[in-house]
Amino acid sequence: MATDPLPLHKTDPAQPPADTPAGPLVAFDQVVKRYGDHVVLDHLDFTVERGQHVTLIGPSGSGKTTILRLLMTLEQVSSGTITVDGTPLSHMRGQDGTLKPASEKYQRDIRKRIGMVFQQFNLFPNMNVLQNITEAPVNVLGMERAAAEERGKELLELVGLSDKVTAHPTQLSGGQQQRVAIARALAMRPEILLLDEVTSALDPELVAGVLDVLRDIARTTDITMLCVTHEMNFARDVSDRVLMFDAGRVIESGTPDKIFGAPEHERTREFLGAVL
Ligand code: ADP
Repeated sequence: MATDPLPLHKTDPAQPPADTPAGPLVAFDQVVKRYGDHVVLDHLDFTVERGQHVTLIGPSGSGKTTILRLLMTLEQVSSGTITVDGTPLSHMRGQDGTLKPASEKYQRDIRKRIGMVFQQFNLFPNMNVLQNITEAPVNVLGMERAAAEERGKELLELVGLSDKVTAHPTQLSGGQQQRVAIARALAMRPEILLLDEVTSALDPELVAGVLDVLRDIARTTDITMLCVTHEMNFARDVSDRVLMFDAGRVIESGTPDKIFGAPEHERTREFLGAVL
């Protein structure tokens, strides 16, 4: 079986695919997330359009990672709705047309459309690099092993690790491990890639290599990206839109030029003054 072309090449923006549905790819509508009395997300509204690169910035504890975890269905909302491509994450339509709580399988199917790269790389320690990348395409998507391996090698080339196909995670630097984790997420052909502070656990000299790979992916693919980062230069380079969070709400949003060049909110100015 031939592999699909790689890596999810950018389509000609003048020629959108005829079957592209209208509406945002991701929508948070009045989302509340509470842990006990602690309100982490407070009636949060925001949308991400197809193909957009959106970066979430803001102080630690403001709820950014929680947003990604909700999208991965690792957590459930307390109230409100999250939709992916118009489909609610938490509810599904029964045969009689009424909405009922989503089943595990329903959520798993939506989750297949989303890839996530975590702060800690979470590679499978007992598998080599290529096995780490082919495991889910073969076992979850049912891809033929040879095709998955071919694609895995293409992805390793994309992240600059063609020479590490048979290496084990312990033989790699943190930056290399994170690049494998990025290739592994891409191997599932996600429509949405969630990046949760992917360089925070790295030694400073390894950060640039990982960010360069992500810049490349942002530039050359159609993948929608939702990114939590403290790397403001990276956010400025790759984002179509930046959302500034504080206390579980978006207090300001706009283009990188606006947010970094002319922030309107005092809290945004304070935050950027502290991190830039
Ligand atoms: P950020 O990514 O902006 O640093 P988080 O989304 O990680 O913020 O966390 C937001 C708040 O939610 C923090 O105050 C954190 O302590 C709290 N929180 C996150 N996960 C849990 C949990 N499982 N139980 C209780 N509180 C949590």
